[in-house]
Amino acid sequence: MEEIRHRLDAHGVKFTPQRYCLMAFLMENEGHPTAAEIFDGVNRLDPRSSRATVYRNLKDMVEAGLVREVAVEGRSARFDAKGIPHHHFICDKCGGVENMTWFDVPRPPAGAVGDRVVREYELILRGLCSSCVAASPTLSVRTGGISTG
Ligand SMILES: [Zn+2]
Ligand SMILES: [Zn+2]
Repeated sequence: MEEIRHRLDAHGVKFTPQRYCLMAFLMENEGHPTAAEIFDGVNRLDPRSSRATVYRNLKDMVEAGLVREVAVEGRSARFDAKGIPHHHFICDKCGGVENMTWFDVPRPPAGAVGDRVVREYELILRGLCSSCVAASPTLSVRTGGISTG
């Protein structure tokens, strides 16, 4: 409870029981739930939260930098509670979003940034997750994959 209250405070977001439930749900579910899944989860914890309230809180918390929205083309956006920095891996086949241990990425060159103010950056790696690779054993052999060595 205190950790979540502290996080909300640190980002200038007023503590409400609904926001608490939303953060608690996201911190316990690292599988990058969609907004609909978050609503279902929050509703189990606090049946008084309306869908509109949950969605509005989710949007506010993304804007406050507490929650990250991971866009997945052609599918619903996924969300996670920001804590430990990490990159994402999105599977082309099953659409699964996985966390990848953080590794440093070079800063973008000033010319590419222009007048923008960069707050943060992270990578999205795409390809096939290990279960999809296992389900199609010839694939990795045929394509050779991208060598990471
Ligand atoms: Zn997959
Ligand atoms: Zn994540």
